[in-house]
Amino acid sequence: MLVAWSHAAAAQQQQQPQQQQQHQYQQPSRTGARRDGIDVVQYTFRVEFPDRAVPDTIRFTTTVVALRTAGVERLRLDLVQAMRVDSARVNGIRTPAVRAQDSLVVALPKGTGDTVVVDVYYRGLPTDGLIIRRDTTLGWTAFGDNFPDRARQWLAVVDHPSDKALVEWDVIAPATHRVIANGALVEETPIVSATTARRVRTRWRTARPIYTAVMVIGVAPFAVLELGETACGLSELPGCVRQSVWTSPAQRGAMPGHFSRAGDIVALFSRLVGPFPYEKLAHVSSSTRYGGMENAGNIFYADKLFDNGGPGEGLIAHETAHQWFGDAVTEGEWPHVWLSEGFATYFAALWTEFAHGDSAFLRDMATMRRQVLASPITMTTPVINTELADLRQVLNTNVYQKAGFVLHMLRREIGDSAFFTGIRSYYAAHRHGNALTGDLQMKFERAAGRPLQWFFTQWLNRPGIAELQPTWQWDAVRRRLIVRVVQSGAFPPYQLSLSVDVTDATGAVRRTRVSIPAQETAVLEVPLTLTAAPRGVVFDADVSILGRVATP
Ligand SMILES: [Zn+2]
Repeated sequence: MLVAWSHAAAAQQQQQPQQQQQHQYQQPSRTGARRDGIDVVQYTFRVEFPDRAVPDTIRFTTTVVALRTAGVERLRLDLVQAMRVDSARVNGIRTPAVRAQDSLVVALPKGTGDTVVVDVYYRGLPTDGLIIRRDTTLGWTAFGDNFPDRARQWLAVVDHPSDKALVEWDVIAPATHRVIANGALVEETPIVSATTARRVRTRWRTARPIYTAVMVIGVAPFAVLELGETACGLSELPGCVRQSVWTSPAQRGAMPGHFSRAGDIVALFSRLVGPFPYEKLAHVSSSTRYGGMENAGNIFYADKLFDNGGPGEGLIAHETAHQWFGDAVTEGEWPHVWLSEGFATYFAALWTEFAHGDSAFLRDMATMRRQVLASPITMTTPVINTELADLRQVLNTNVYQKAGFVLHMLRREIGDSAFFTGIRSYYAAHRHGNALTGDLQMKFERAAGRPLQWFFTQWLNRPGIAELQPTWQWDAVRRRLIVRVVQSGAFPPYQLSLSVDVTDATGAVRRTRVSIPAQETAVLEVPLTLTAAPRGVVFDADVSILGRVATP
């Protein structure tokens, strides 16, 4: 999602100040726990909205199909207390559901390494997770908004990113509304009833496993604009990527807006990373608390953005990149969330580079760096924060801008070819599964043909930025350009690749790079053949040092 607004969403910042966006959790949240010995394979969520002007209670059934290892005799599902459990069944047999805090526990029959099917019947009016809003023009709307651990506010799930599962949605709603959800549309069937107003049963189903934070529905009187088939031949499923924009009828007139580039964005990322992973991509005006939220196959954007022309290209690119990074490859543990947000941040900049050229890209990177330098948390806490105890702190400048810039530096360090080879092989190895930072490092090391532990450690496992004072002098006798770099900032010296732009005696500008060791003082020869003293030298003109580079 995009919470901490980047350069790309700067124009939208005034509408939705960051402080209002972040951390409005209704209750304290701890980093969710894995369920050892349980692997959920599939969820079916049945959601029945009443035939009323505004829902006062919603009936839910969650069916969990899970594999369990030998000796596991209980299944604990996350579901908040406010949801009233009517009954539960295990393999079709009614079984007591024991409530404990915001979870429920059912006993499983004795068994070894088998599949269990658990149905949980419950009801309530969610106050979070499924955001139900009364709207004077639309009657009411309901939008899932689960990140990071709010699925349990309305769904009975193993609410941890490491347990991905297939999802089927089975939603009954008034015929005035339509339902968008993950996956492919299976059916939209009118329900004929003599006693209630006309309702429609809508089913959506995924062919790929996803994690709970991106399992959502949107229910509203949508106006749908088809963007048609895009990125043909670049989808994991046969054919093209079908894209569409779902807004309120009043917002429909301003569309497609920047979604006119949605096809090009998907095509670019498919070429850079791997085929688009899902059945379709819907862009949805919603009541998410975030600016945009990358729900798998259907991105939810803050509806306020649509009152002013719709989301900008940067936001669309960010959320679209998440379909690969965050959704298809999901961090296995929350401290590695930079594998999601850092990639989405950097890939939005790559879209800028592709669509708007080098100088626009360098402006994006310079802005990203400025945001890191202005952020207190980047000076005190590493990107991979293993001491993260409260999920309300999971999103910050470290995992967005700093991590995005770290990817940029890695690209400069190992070159475009190795960088994108590493990304493609990492994605291919972990798509529809999980990954940790070490998995990524291994793929980059293989692509680059050299160890990169030093790079990952200095940028991701310790806080801080580089601070350089580079100077240069011309050695007239040997005709060599000599660079001296002092690193005497608040943090230990970094190993760096510094670009040097030399304006030679003819006025031509020539760029080269020097490798700076992690030392307080380094003296290096610039690998350029020069016949006379240069007219000028500029350091880091390609914006590839995360830190402050003093001008000589
Ligand atoms: Zn994001």
